[in-house]
Amino acid sequence: MTKDREVAAKALLVGAPLKTSGFSDGKNHLVELSRLAMTAGAKVVGVVSQNISKKNPRYLIGKGKIEELAVTVNSTTADLVIFDDELTPLQGKSIEDHLGVRVMDRSELILDIFAKRARSREAKMQVELAQLQYLMPRLRRMWTHLSRIRGGIGLRGPGETQLESDRRLIGRRITTLRKRLRALDKARLNRSKAREDEFQVALVGYTNAGKSSLLRALSNRDVLVEDRLFSTLDSKIRTVELGDGFEAMVTDTVGFIRKLPHHLVASFRSTLEGIREAALLVHVIDASQEEWSNQRVVVEEVLGTLGLEGIPQILVFNKIDSLQKEELIDLKHRVRKEKQPAVFVSALVIGSLEILKTAIRSYLQQSFRHLSMKLRASDGQSLAILHEAGEIVQQEYEGHFTTIEVRIPHKVAGRLLKSADVVLLKEHGIT
Ligand code: GDP
Ligand code: MG
Repeated sequence: MTKDREVAAKALLVGAPLKTSGFSDGKNHLVELSRLAMTAGAKVVGVVSQNISKKNPRYLIGKGKIEELAVTVNSTTADLVIFDDELTPLQGKSIEDHLGVRVMDRSELILDIFAKRARSREAKMQVELAQLQYLMPRLRRMWTHLSRIRGGIGLRGPGETQLESDRRLIGRRITTLRKRLRALDKARLNRSKAREDEFQVALVGYTNAGKSSLLRALSNRDVLVEDRLFSTLDSKIRTVELGDGFEAMVTDTVGFIRKLPHHLVASFRSTLEGIREAALLVHVIDASQEEWSNQRVVVEEVLGTLGLEGIPQILVFNKIDSLQKEELIDLKHRVRKEKQPAVFVSALVIGSLEILKTAIRSYLQQSFRHLSMKLRASDGQSLAILHEAGEIVQQEYEGHFTTIEVRIPHKVAGRLLKSADVVLLKEHGIT
């Protein structure tokens, strides 16, 4: 789905916010859409917007507006029209037939960017799966499209039989991808088992908020940083020294964005669910964005979809170097009212991250892991540590072994679990 945009496509953007749904955001959405389009390698030649009172089943926007759009396509010589809203397969086809140029919606655009950015085998498979699922109901349209405009990318010669056999082929490919991804899931589970005695922190946030920059600055290691959307698709994990002998395993994750295509969320689910193992989420917010609070809500929503809203969070307001002094004071004032742990930093200013390290460390020092472990009843040293530093919930003896459910500081738990004779049975959570 990417080939035709290697030559910079001239894109016309279309926004059609529903009048009933806070359409004042429409402008920001289109600014973001144009960043997405540029990230995908297109050149934006115009923007058209219409507040609609209901979705036209055929064209999404009104009949009159579609005529107007056709005129604009001509005058701007656009060869690509991108809708901010999701188009049904029928709408996509009707609009494309009407305008005679390639039409895509925001979901397809995001899928396209993901396809270009995927590096690891797993990310590539996840994106391919999402793309194929998106493609299935739209196959007929893609077909006419492929034959007419692109001359095909591996798919050749239209016709009903061909269409049918392609459907079967794609269906089979989807099954294969699912199977392979499941196998990778298992491998991941084993890897995460090996890390379970470490304190895990996940960076989450809107795309471009500065997560990768922060990880790089925190770990003094190279992490890809780009002023583009979605430069990180594969999670990176780095050890970060927090001071006082504490350390954390910090994971960089794919950024969130509004209207993230649901196929994509579904196929990246396992990667994103890696966040579940984190004891703490560091929610990175781009303070230089006027609409940071909307972006924050989007991130909370995606976390909610993934069932991760319960993990404790520290808010990190990043990019404060781009704020005026008064703006920063206002921001701090506004945020402090919320009583949510928050720090204000700039990933680009050396030394400004101590405050973030301290915040993570003090969380680590204050929080306890609630877990069950099994050890030798004769291991007096470990038992003494458990009784001294931990709060025993329950203890049972079984022959030469004892099973203990305990609430215990992170650091102590980490040390104990490193010992060869102690087996972690169950992680009940963080308290
Ligand atoms: P991610 O998508 O959240 O991983 O964001 P990146 O770390 O890739 O950063 C996105 C863009 O923001 C890059 O151009 C960074 O150089 C820039 N950036 C990151 N942190 C800061 C900061 O503290 N101040 C400023 N001014 N720019 C930053
Ligand atoms: Mg990144």
